[in-house]
Amino acid sequence: MKTTRRNFLFCSGIAAAGLSPISQSVAGTVLPKHSLKGKIKLSFEPYNLALKHVFTIANSSRTSTPVMLTRVEFEGVTGYGEASMPPYLGESQETAAKFLSKVDLSGFPDPFQMEDILDYVDQIDEGNRAAKASVDIALHDLVGKLLKQPWHRLWGLNPVLTPNTTFTIGIDTEEVVKQKVREAAEFKILKVKLGRDNDREMVRTIRSVTDVPLAVDVNQGWKDKEKALEMIYWLKEMGIVMIEQPLPKEQIDDMAWLTERSPLPIFGDESVQRLPDVVKAAGVYHGINIKLMKCTGMREAFIMAKTAKALGMKIMIGCMTETSCAVSAAAQLSPLAEFADLDGNLLITNDLYTGMRVIDGKVTLSNLPGIGIRKI
Ligand code: MG
Repeated sequence: MKTTRRNFLFCSGIAAAGLSPISQSVAGTVLPKHSLKGKIKLSFEPYNLALKHVFTIANSSRTSTPVMLTRVEFEGVTGYGEASMPPYLGESQETAAKFLSKVDLSGFPDPFQMEDILDYVDQIDEGNRAAKASVDIALHDLVGKLLKQPWHRLWGLNPVLTPNTTFTIGIDTEEVVKQKVREAAEFKILKVKLGRDNDREMVRTIRSVTDVPLAVDVNQGWKDKEKALEMIYWLKEMGIVMIEQPLPKEQIDDMAWLTERSPLPIFGDESVQRLPDVVKAAGVYHGINIKLMKCTGMREAFIMAKTAKALGMKIMIGCMTETSCAVSAAAQLSPLAEFADLDGNLLITNDLYTGMRVIDGKVTLSNLPGIGIRKI
């Protein structure tokens, strides 16, 4: 029988976790026995996240974010998931409910067969990436709980290696920006959204309050490669350490031109959605921003990170505005990343979970199994 990595995880994890009696021992191979009498049951409900501040990026502003909360249950154990759907990405609570209504996991006898289950979920319909991620996250949470281990351990990652997370300062008036920066004194790196006609004023305003390193996200807001390069040189002098999505994703040749000349590392975000985009990003960007809501969840995010590393690219783990559920799921991957942008749960007033925490500016993983969360 072909031994896959998943089979190994299943066998060794179950045995170590002591979930089942050992049924067989053949020539040193220990196989677990699992009754597999349960059915996997998916349920979901809409929830609206209340934002602490009006959130403004290059093309839009908003005060709340719709999400869909998911649960998968198997033999009395519950895994939690979440789909976050900022309106500009095209999904909504209606589209997510429609998609999730089609997902029937009752035919799968074993939640550990995640490849089969998530391949099935992915082929139900095109798009719906956040809704797909909500099933993926819940399933990972369930399987981690069955194994009594958090996913960073199952992936073999060292939790000490998590990066500092950026904290995003949205575009606003000078006084509000200064206030937001003062409130963010705990963070060792801040992220600023540029891409409007007041970019230099925004950076100077932040610099009047703090000297911490800054990450810049342009959200495709610059159009001219020469002006972008000039701006990047100026930003380097101002203590900026990385640039995210400076040009529109369609301007691939301009982007490659800019990356070749840029004194700062450039990361693709809107350009890099799923695994095939990682290969296309090589030579166009120095790094990629991986988000669970773009790539359908933890399964694909892990492969994207490993692929990017193999192609010599840097990794950033990002998020949308989310509860600690989806943010903690993303944080499991963060020891692989040079940069983390995992502040989505810190931007809301009605979180439902505790999990990943930011301590002294650093992503700090909990020891809880699965995605590492507990309901508040
Ligand atoms: Mg971005």
